[in-house]
Amino acid sequence: MLNVTEFDLTQKLVNEYMIDSDKVAHVQLNNPLKHALLVLTKTGYNAVPVLDYDGTFKGLISKSHIIERMFGLDQIEVDLLDEKTVKDVMDYNIKTLQLDDTLEKALHLLIDHNFVCVVNHSNTMEGILTRRQLLKQIRNQFYQQKTI
Ligand code: AMP
Repeated sequence: MLNVTEFDLTQKLVNEYMIDSDKVAHVQLNNPLKHALLVLTKTGYNAVPVLDYDGTFKGLISKSHIIERMFGLDQIEVDLLDEKTVKDVMDYNIKTLQLDDTLEKALHLLIDHNFVCVVNHSNTMEGILTRRQLLKQIRNQFYQQKTI
């Protein structure tokens, strides 16, 4: 069984395990939806962070946000991809982690989300923590202990 005294989630900080922001794909509030769809399609990600021009975290945009918005009453409105911007369809109501939050707090958020954005005290995005990253740490710890 995983020994929590060896890998204590309450003692590990989010900033040690996150993907740094310079490696995180993102879009900006005023980008046209076409650009956001291109970023999501080319990266293969379902959702990416939305930032303001100065790096402030604003929320998330996903493929389904864009596709849902394109569905008109009886047809797909492709023109909206040029007419609307990210801020028209994105989700603003997103929970974040602080750099000095523990993995225990992250664990609760990552049950419902694939990834969570990590921000500093000015709400600038510093990185993301993914469910995959957390599970890898727990797996590594599990096998390390089995070989001791
Ligand atoms: P993964 O754990 O790699 O499957 O990623 C889960 C989700 O986290 C992806 O679908 C994206 O929404 C987000 N994600 C992971 N890595 C990145 C990245 N480098 N840039 C932007 N979003 C990412």
